[in-house]
Amino acid sequence: MVGSVRILSGRAFAKGVRSDLKDMIASCSGRPPGLAVIQVGEDPASQLYVSMKEKACRKTGIVSTMVRLEREATEEELLAVIDSLNTDPCVDGILCQLPLPDHISPARIASAIVPEKDVDGFHPINVGKLWRGEEGLFPCTPVGIVALLKEHAIVMEGERSVIVGRSNIVGKPMAALLLREHATVTLAHSRTKDLPELCRTASILIAAVGRPRFLTREFISPGATVIDVGTSQTEDGLSGDVDFDDVCGICGAITPVPGGVGPLTIAFLLSNTVKAWKSRI
Ligand code: NAP
Repeated sequence: MVGSVRILSGRAFAKGVRSDLKDMIASCSGRPPGLAVIQVGEDPASQLYVSMKEKACRKTGIVSTMVRLEREATEEELLAVIDSLNTDPCVDGILCQLPLPDHISPARIASAIVPEKDVDGFHPINVGKLWRGEEGLFPCTPVGIVALLKEHAIVMEGERSVIVGRSNIVGKPMAALLLREHATVTLAHSRTKDLPELCRTASILIAAVGRPRFLTREFISPGATVIDVGTSQTEDGLSGDVDFDDVCGICGAITPVPGGVGPLTIAFLLSNTVKAWKSRI
């Protein structure tokens, strides 16, 4: 708590999720889950994310396979790697770290990973299943956010939620998942008019914009739950999309940056990998 504001720690929750996954894997005999992570090029931020995923796999009992390709690798070369991982019986999950170099189409790559190993949830079949309300593998960040809201008993059913950002990775799947929880959902983006006023209608506000401290107190309705997905490197270090200090006196609950949404993404990547593994053993 900061004053009367509840701090929704993703770090603490993710730790519990990872520990449960570890126990479950340890209790199963036979082949452990396997995750293959492909990185194209040497983007330093991607390298950091990939090594964090590798470390998290190791600690949980998931066998991780790293495939590193030169930045100059062709789309065909990457597709050939995916093809061989698709048929590898020891690989349950495949992900290709984004961003990809400009000459490679992320949509084509997402469609090449077989849906049952698509632990990022980007394959069109999984996207369709998400919107149709069927079972499938869904994007880790929004899945983690819904789990965090449930963990803190934050009511979604019937509540007004506004998501700022309409990316395929966060905003759109977030909308589909909140709809599944019976929230009333509005997706906002860079062309949305009167954004602060719209955001003030939300009892659950999700910020996935990628602009440091973009959402200030004028966007927040008193008592709202604020989920800050943003992670931008600034001169002062890592910054979220929400001006934490400015909104703290108004909102009812908020995720910090760092330590909020970030740890959830990795925990639910592991969870998706275990889900894919269980469906294949
Ligand atoms: P993205 O693909 O760049 O999408 C940004 C969205 O914000 C777009 O829909 C864009 O609208 C909207 N936007 C930009 N400027 C706006 C403005 N002035 N007013 C309203 N909307 C605006 O980003 P993303 O991949 O969704 O990621 C968003 C942020 O979350 C980034 O900081 C990213 O690093 C972070 N992230 C964190 C995690 C985590 O695990 N913590 C995971 C994923 C992403 P248009 O569509 O109209 O352009």
